[in-house]
Amino acid sequence: MTLTNPRTDDDWRRDAACRDLDTDIFFPVTDEEAGPAREICASCPVREQCLEFALATRQDDGVWGGLTETERRRLRRRRREATRRAA
Ligand code: SF4
Repeated sequence: MTLTNPRTDDDWRRDAACRDLDTDIFFPVTDEEAGPAREICASCPVREQCLEFALATRQDDGVWGGLTETERRRLRRRRREATRRAA
């Protein structure tokens, strides 16, 4: 039997549009300065995986999946409320 190379949860990072870029772009001091990072994320093929990773691991800083920390916090709250309403 031949074992295939199992994909890990982090495999999405290989296809990240930000892979070889300066990470400073993704850690703006304010949300207003997040424009350049958002532009890169907008065309990133692994945007969804990146965002879900950031939500699942509670990344507090930086732009992940095109969303700032403030926006991710709002998204988490909206999802919690939707789950509560559906219950
Ligand atoms: S969505 Fe943005 S931060 Fe996430 S991997 Fe893609 S380019 Fe990087």
